[in-house]
Amino acid sequence: MISIQGKGVSNGVAMGPLYFYQRAKSTIRRYQVEDVNAEWERFKAAQAKAIEQLGELAQKAEAEAGAEAAFLFETHQMMAEDDDYVEAIEGLIKEEKLNAEAAVTDTAAQFADMFAQMDDTYMQARAADVKDVSGRIVGILTGVVQGGIDSDVPVVLAADDLAPSETVQLDKSKILGFITEGGSGSSHTAILARTMGIPAIIGVGNQLKAEFEGREVIVDGGTGSIVVDADEATRAVMMAKREEQLKRQKLLEQLKGEENITKDGHKIKVFCNIGNPEDVAMVLANDGGGVGLFRSEFLYLNCDDYPTEEYQFEAYKQVLSDMGDKEVVIRTLDIGADKQIDYFQMPKEENPALGNRALRICLNRPEIFKTQLRALYRASAYGHLGIMFPMVTSVWEVKEARKMCEVVKKELDAEGKPYADDVEIGIMIETPAAAVMSDRLAKLVDFFSCGTNDLTQYTLACDRQNNDLGRFFNPHHPAVLRLLKMVCDNAHKNGVWVGICGELGADLELTETFLSIGIDELSVSPRSVLPLRQKIREVTLSDVKEKVLADLLGDENTI
Ligand code: PEP
Ligand code: MG
Repeated sequence: MISIQGKGVSNGVAMGPLYFYQRAKSTIRRYQVEDVNAEWERFKAAQAKAIEQLGELAQKAEAEAGAEAAFLFETHQMMAEDDDYVEAIEGLIKEEKLNAEAAVTDTAAQFADMFAQMDDTYMQARAADVKDVSGRIVGILTGVVQGGIDSDVPVVLAADDLAPSETVQLDKSKILGFITEGGSGSSHTAILARTMGIPAIIGVGNQLKAEFEGREVIVDGGTGSIVVDADEATRAVMMAKREEQLKRQKLLEQLKGEENITKDGHKIKVFCNIGNPEDVAMVLANDGGGVGLFRSEFLYLNCDDYPTEEYQFEAYKQVLSDMGDKEVVIRTLDIGADKQIDYFQMPKEENPALGNRALRICLNRPEIFKTQLRALYRASAYGHLGIMFPMVTSVWEVKEARKMCEVVKKELDAEGKPYADDVEIGIMIETPAAAVMSDRLAKLVDFFSCGTNDLTQYTLACDRQNNDLGRFFNPHHPAVLRLLKMVCDNAHKNGVWVGICGELGADLELTETFLSIGIDELSVSPRSVLPLRQKIREVTLSDVKEKVLADLLGDENTI
């Protein structure tokens, strides 16, 4: 039996075979072949397999998001069979005796260049398609697994680290738990694991050895402990813990349908954070009161090219209709920093967390922003929508973003396309600048939602991705909590509601603090709704408020 200690970032105990994530290699081998006919056949087999995979993806996309979503994969299928493309590859294999991987890669580069130089923007965008299709064929030729997992049974997935773009493409039904060498508890991969309710452990360094692959592991995402080949006694203890958690979950189920109300009658909203339309099932199953944060960028991360207005409209409409009359706050695109997307072709930055991200990209590239806002407003006709802008630092940014909303509404009016007239507009308070300016910003919006992951990072000058910063990254720091209080006060003075959608919202040690400073809404991962409700129902606010506020503002609190 081998014991390994990491840092638990998503609760739960899971047991299953260990599997190492298979990542596509960035460099491919290039060599001369002897038997060109055999190499040609090897290419043809990979091409046929790629076409089959794309057909399956098209069917899945059509079922989940409609015909428009399927169209992308159908275009890729056509590209894989295109006569000019295939002839170019054939020439390189049969005449130049080049191996198939290199022939496909060279042809992709040549075609992508050709598309990129065309005047027509539609044709320019095909450059990304040809690269994508070719990457799939090369992946098949080199034995790389699409989606990172090739296993018939669910596994505990291990990786050095996982980028958000990799995490969103994983087949969730195959994953019992996550283990990563690096990572941090506030990273988006950890956040996704919590949203999916999958136990996760990060920061195990080099303790996981290749020879453990396929062996049984038990992970405890609460304590961060991992056991490979557990002995009978350890296994019994871990499984008992698992049973205990399931029992506790059952008990919490009794709170479904109950209010989020303190013993002395103070109510607070408990909403959920989601990353894609399928997560709504978890929101409803856990009795979330609404969606307080839909991280819309995950739609973009899931695509190989800019998602069209129609594709986004279908996704937002689905979330809004599935949530019925409950409020759904959709955050506009928040890419940049750790969420990088190839097709955005963003220049490399020295400090991406301080760089061109989120609303900054939207304001600099209005065509992308407008497409998303059009999809959002059109979807607003199907439910109760709030639109929220991320990474705000200045008043002018909000004014400019709001102006774009007006442009979009005018366009939709002219086209006779319906939209709701009660769409709420809000901003994330996740920079110290926004918190300090919240008195002014409150005059421009209907609500604030505090992004404590970034607010902690920027207030304490501590990278949220860096697990080594340990105790320096402290979201309980009075500087963060005092900013939250200031934001609440400024919001309420201006009749604006205020929520928390960062991970801190689910931190039960701070529930009394949030109630005391007057937070109106907490948006948490679906699994955190019922434990939070239980905690709220245990509090007598009038008993704790004075002391909490004195502690927060008093001299003692000077860490
Ligand atoms: C936050 O910063 O707290 C937040 C909710 O946004 P994200 O974690 O996606 O940056
Ligand atoms: Mg953020």
